[in-house]
Amino acid sequence: MRMLAGRCFCGAVRYSVADEFVYAMNCHCSNCRAATGSAFKPFGGIQREKLEVTDGDDVLLVHGDDDSNDTRCGVCGSFLYSVVRDGEYVHVAYGSLVDAPSLRPTKHIFVGSKAPWFEITDDLPQFEEH
Ligand SMILES: [Zn+2]
Ligand SMILES: [Zn+2]
Repeated sequence: MRMLAGRCFCGAVRYSVADEFVYAMNCHCSNCRAATGSAFKPFGGIQREKLEVTDGDDVLLVHGDDDSNDTRCGVCGSFLYSVVRDGEYVHVAYGSLVDAPSLRPTKHIFVGSKAPWFEITDDLPQFEEH
């Protein structure tokens, strides 16, 4: 199994995730924009057990509870991944990956609430919500 490396900005947290993302998309919802400080959040979904934090487990900043949260580096604040779907899956923020995943984002979601100053210029399908 090919593994992908990921890290936060300061390097205190490192993780390893299987290159087996089940889905990937760009979310333009206001929560993802606020959480990342970006126009949208590119992320990939994968079974939680396929991601392992290899460094900095003790400095993680977890916003939420064990089954549903956003996980960041507690030192530099980088957004790393979210635990979703009753704790079964993680949504890995693609920007935190060091290596390139085989599955690229396939669509734009929540385009109905995208930032008005940002224009989507690719040909991926767009959805008002999910
Ligand atoms: Zn960090
Ligand atoms: Zn979102």
